Amino acid sequence: MKSYTETLYDSYGQEFTVDKVYFENKTDHQHLVIFENARFGRVMALDGIIQTTEADEFIYHEMMTHVPLFAHGNASRVLIIGGGDGGMLREVCKHSSVQHITQVEIDDQVVDMCKQFLPNHSAGAYDDPRVNIVIDDGARFLTECNEHFDVIISDSTDPIGPADVLFTSEFYQNCKKCLADDGILVTQNGVAFMQLDEVTTTSSRLQAYFTDHSFYCAAIPTYIGGVMTFAWATDNVQLRQLSSDIIGQRFAAANINCRYYNPSIHSASFALPQYILDAL
Ligand code: SAM
Repeated sequence: MKSYTETLYDSYGQEFTVDKVYFENKTDHQHLVIFENARFGRVMALDGIIQTTEADEFIYHEMMTHVPLFAHGNASRVLIIGGGDGGMLREVCKHSSVQHITQVEIDDQVVDMCKQFLPNHSAGAYDDPRVNIVIDDGARFLTECNEHFDVIISDSTDPIGPADVLFTSEFYQNCKKCLADDGILVTQNGVAFMQLDEVTTTSSRLQAYFTDHSFYCAAIPTYIGGVMTFAWATDNVQLRQLSSDIIGQRFAAANINCRYYNPSIHSASFALPQYILDAL
């Protein structure tokens, strides 16, 4: 394999030169490949869609963990849906207030191969005593779950293939069922300029179950086409409005080193481009 072309979009895409293939296999759920690229380091793709790269994963994982966790302020129990590469788990583990993390990932080969070939993503987080890994469909898990979580992070692939069920009204309803008081749900919700229908669909589905629902965003280079949106849903409308001073106090107290996230970025990320606001 000399190059890898992403096939997420029909008429537009990104191509990586491939210096080495670490792993390639059709798992029970999806096609998995991990390869080396000179600019982005080790890259993982599932079913032709770039999932994560060593070079820019910090942006995505910092924004999907620290924004809800510092907004909540005292999260003890966290649920991650998907996240098989381990980057989300690594960032959640940095919060000493968090006592228990459950991660529900459908594909054990993604976990195993990322531990082996993307070790810097999980960076030992899978061995954290607070962590409980469940190999299952996240939607099915939530249907049967009677636990309550302070933060739920849906770190899934795009709504094609096994992750389709993670973008349904039933999934959001079950997330609501499993959120504690003042709980926050955040989800990977696509690159708005390219996948605006995913944003509007999620918005219409969330409003049936949550008092406050919106999006926040960040630009991750290998999620091509502009800013990626993250869905935000909670019944505590204050949590999205917290001042950067309060977030700053919590961030300073947590003593977590970040490369993208900071309190100003936290507050600014909820400012959405007009074309997204118009669509909503
Ligand atoms: N950062 C990526 C993105 O924005 O698309 C997501 C990365 S993470 C590797 C996505 C994970 O979701 C994969 O490991 C995949 O196996 C998992 N996944 C897909 N459908 C799932 C489901 N129904 N339940 C649990 N995990 C699922």
